[in-house]
Amino acid sequence: MTGRVAIGIDLGTTYSCVAAWFDKHNRVKIIPNQQGNNITPSCVAWNGTQVLVGEAAKNQITRNPTNTIVDVKRLMGARFGDGVVKKDIESRPFKVVEGPGEKLVIVFEHESKEKKYSPEEISSLILRNLKEAAEVFLGTTVTDAVITVPAYFNDNQRQATLDAGVLAGLNVKRLISEPTSAAIAYGLDKSADVKRPKEKNVLIFDLGGGTFDVSLLRIDDTGTVTVKAVGGDTYLGGENFDRLMVNHCVEMFKKKEKKDVSGNARTMMRLKIACEKAKRDLSSTTQIPIEVDCLFEGIDLSMKFSRAKFEEINVGFFNMCIKHVENCLRDGNMHKKDVDDVVIVGGSTRIPKVQQMLMEYFDGKPLCKSINADEAVAYGAAVLAANLNGYGNKKVKDLMLKDVTPLSLGIKVNIDGDGGRE
Ligand code: AMP
Repeated sequence: MTGRVAIGIDLGTTYSCVAAWFDKHNRVKIIPNQQGNNITPSCVAWNGTQVLVGEAAKNQITRNPTNTIVDVKRLMGARFGDGVVKKDIESRPFKVVEGPGEKLVIVFEHESKEKKYSPEEISSLILRNLKEAAEVFLGTTVTDAVITVPAYFNDNQRQATLDAGVLAGLNVKRLISEPTSAAIAYGLDKSADVKRPKEKNVLIFDLGGGTFDVSLLRIDDTGTVTVKAVGGDTYLGGENFDRLMVNHCVEMFKKKEKKDVSGNARTMMRLKIACEKAKRDLSSTTQIPIEVDCLFEGIDLSMKFSRAKFEEINVGFFNMCIKHVENCLRDGNMHKKDVDDVVIVGGSTRIPKVQQMLMEYFDGKPLCKSINADEAVAYGAAVLAANLNGYGNKKVKDLMLKDVTPLSLGIKVNIDGDGGRE
């Protein structure tokens, strides 16, 4: 490696991922966490004595919901008085109060002890966890990083992400939008053997755990990436599908055992964990048993869930995804025939029905999915990170990233460490 090592981080709503360019293998490597997994839950908890991050935090969520925070990304750069944020806070099991300057303060309480965090501080704990995983894996100190943010993030949200990076001890070389990062990940593959056409339109379909983002990018012959339109729903994702599965299980249990478990938070959380796992399995199999010992009042849950049932209960959400694609194309003044590539990212795009509907919408166009759905964004960030530090794949050395988001025109989109835009 000629330059100083730099990592790419996808700081996601439900999961985060870190990657780095490997000169030795001439490609990006996704860095596993301490547990050996390539993605880490964006989750932080306090158990009264210890602050837990990632899998350790997620694993104790049913026992300690009021001191466990997930989805902190939604609170980044927010003001206490913001309408949407207020609604969001109300639905959370943990306490959020107003701090100076209308800032949010997350309060963990254990017995009579209290711990207060800003959303940036919570995010910084996740970033530090990823940084440390990278240091262990790479066997060197890591400070330089590229962090991804949603294309629609405003100035405050971008600044909060940058602040989180600094708190984590990172030198944030650049913030880059998630769709642009995914496009870089795939652009790399293509530029290796295909002559770049004059201009390329790429649609990024990103369906994660809690959010759905659709973005339309134009990449010109110099490699300049311009975000033409963004759309989606910040409250649509895998969790919606889990919830409908849980509701279905609750109804089945009610029918069979004459017991209503919906009022018991712990039971509902255990059901959610079982359903989420079953949902993942249903992407590769057509029927799955859901079994939870002693679910409620000593009674076990044992039932079968079919892929057909899963698709039937979620068809409304899947249709909404396609509607958002249509709207995004309309906002970008583009016809679906003008789209050269459709890239899918986000764990929920593994759902076969989602892929099928998207492919049908684009009249059978094959989807770009050779890079793992939940790793593509970090992958692209790692390519850019290596590039900014003067190493990595020479083919992307000339990438000029404009990354202009129509929604935030007029604000400085590329807040990077060395200032200014490339
Ligand atoms: P992300 O935020 O991109 O990491 O995506 C996380 C979401 O993807 C969660 O809701 C997961 O349950 C979902 N997910 C991951 N793998 C699969 C799969 N094989 N099938 C369906 N959903 C999945």
